[in-house]
Amino acid sequence: SYRKGGYHAVRVGDQFAGGRYIAQRKLGWGQFSTVWLAYDTRTSEFVALKIQKSAAQFAQAALHEIEVLSAIASGDPANSRCIVRLIDHFKHTGPNGQHLCMVLEFLGDSLLRLIRYNRYKGLGLNQVREICKCILAGLDYLHRELGIIHTDLKPENILLFSTIDPSKDPVRSELTPILERPEGNPNGGTTMNLIEKKLKRRARRAVAKISERRASMGGLGGGAAKSERNLDGIDVRCKVVDFGNACWADNQFAQEIQTRQYRAPEVILQAGYSFSVDMWSFACTAFELATGDMMFAPSSGQGFGEDEDHLALMMELLGKMPRKVAIGGARSKDFFDRHGDLKRIRRLKFWPLDRLLVDRYKFSENDAGEFAEFLCPLLDFAPEKRPTAQQCLQHPWLSLRNSTQGEMNNEANLGNLNVGLSNLQIKVGK
Ligand code: ADP
Ligand code: MG
Repeated sequence: SYRKGGYHAVRVGDQFAGGRYIAQRKLGWGQFSTVWLAYDTRTSEFVALKIQKSAAQFAQAALHEIEVLSAIASGDPANSRCIVRLIDHFKHTGPNGQHLCMVLEFLGDSLLRLIRYNRYKGLGLNQVREICKCILAGLDYLHRELGIIHTDLKPENILLFSTIDPSKDPVRSELTPILERPEGNPNGGTTMNLIEKKLKRRARRAVAKISERRASMGGLGGGAAKSERNLDGIDVRCKVVDFGNACWADNQFAQEIQTRQYRAPEVILQAGYSFSVDMWSFACTAFELATGDMMFAPSSGQGFGEDEDHLALMMELLGKMPRKVAIGGARSKDFFDRHGDLKRIRRLKFWPLDRLLVDRYKFSENDAGEFAEFLCPLLDFAPEKRPTAQQCLQHPWLSLRNSTQGEMNNEANLGNLNVGLSNLQIKVGK
């Protein structure tokens, strides 16, 4: 994909925007872009530099993303709303064409990596609660104040503030930035590899110090260093990213939205959608954080497609879809007969959420009941009945403390919820 219209090849030390940003190392890539850690010489901070592929359709998509991110940033001068901040944007001309570039605040690993890191066992419920509060604060801001639907909420698109692996965390001021292109073979090869190795060693040394300090504060890096997979006691804060597919509720352009497993039933049925599709994906994400498994992982089978399997899985977990909802979409006839029963999957094995949490995931009866009570309203088949992010933030489950992990202190936590969310200082009540 490193050809005309495609990705821009970047090397360590490359300069962007007239020398303001200097590439440090690659952070990741998506379908449309590569993302680099860069040093901002003007502010002396590390940033994430997202460099879009150059072809016209990618440039168009980037312009849209910049428009959405600009609205998000201008509505939130204090940068306290749990959404990634756009710092700057510019064009960069390279051998493959002109690339739109976004400068974003530098964040850490995604929740998907956090789940993987925890060997798909699920996180502690207290951590799930803290993450949920961040996501909901972000959604409430997007929905209520900006009228924006994210349309692709999932663990991969929620990034932590810090990386899980401290050796990969060049925490801002504590690592010396690379200010020029390392000398050597410009085409990479051995010299570049040696330099890379040297840089990695340097990063490891610098970060070892940071992780020591964090360990004494009970921070993320420290926790990971002390006991390999023990994620208890970390102060988990995160932000929602990836606004490439976001839209204003009154200006929708795509009919098929959301990543399969997080897709709401009204999207499958093509019955129109609104902010509540994000609430559905949010519930799927919360479940995945707590169990390590996707809530719905549909697949096609003999005589039925992925969509019908998906609808069947939903009903097995949440009960039968009301007939009115089932037959209300443009595609309803593809899946449902006039009684509101699936055409090809006739026998459903009902397994309600609270039972599933106890039987398969070994939740205590109490934890399962409480968590299911939190999630089920968000998974209402009737989109207009789902609570809004604002309403969801008031749910008592968010201010509970898991009895094995700490003392109940509801009053203090409720206080923190309201004060904390407005400035992102979400406290884990002690
Ligand atoms: P695309 O739109 O091409 O899919 P994304 O915005 O999803 O691009 O970014 C691709 C990857 O880059 C992400 O999965 C993540 O690993 C990394 N990334 C993106 N934004 C940031 C950021 N602000 N801080 C750190 N890493 C980021
Ligand atoms: Mg992406």
